[in-house]
Amino acid sequence: MRTLVLNAGYEPLAVVTFRRALVLVLAGKASVVAESGEPVVGPNEVFARPSVILLNRYVRVPYREGTVATRRGVLRRDDHRCAYCGKAAATVDHVVPKSRGGGDSWENLVACCLRCNNAKGDKTLKQLGWELRFRPQPPRGARWQIRELERPAPQWHAFLGSDTAA
Ligand SMILES: [Zn+2]
Repeated sequence: MRTLVLNAGYEPLAVVTFRRALVLVLAGKASVVAESGEPVVGPNEVFARPSVILLNRYVRVPYREGTVATRRGVLRRDDHRCAYCGKAAATVDHVVPKSRGGGDSWENLVACCLRCNNAKGDKTLKQLGWELRFRPQPPRGARWQIRELERPAPQWHAFLGSDTAA
């Protein structure tokens, strides 16, 4: 059972165990903004199980470079839209094919529909006369540093907003 921690400005900050979340709430450092499932039964009290908590004070997070590009991350960044045709995408494509030295970087990975992926194969964009609908870039913002957000709990969605607005 995981709890999403929001910074005082409501941006996602971390994912912690619900026990850790309860400690923050009981210490007066955070407030529960969404609950889920069965309550937690302690020795003397019964607590609502927090699924989202909000820190009462803003925490400054140093910007960390070099978030690793993952398949799920690329699909999230590109809003599950194919970088070539704009249709719903479930796969990820290397813009410069691996066989031609293309790497697993945010700049070289894009969301891609199965049809375009099959058509593209090991070819370059130049060979196909294709163009990217956007320039792939590493995403910015704290939420991209949080790997657990690749599999968000249903209760978190209202607090995650648009991924592209990170
Ligand atoms: Zn496509």
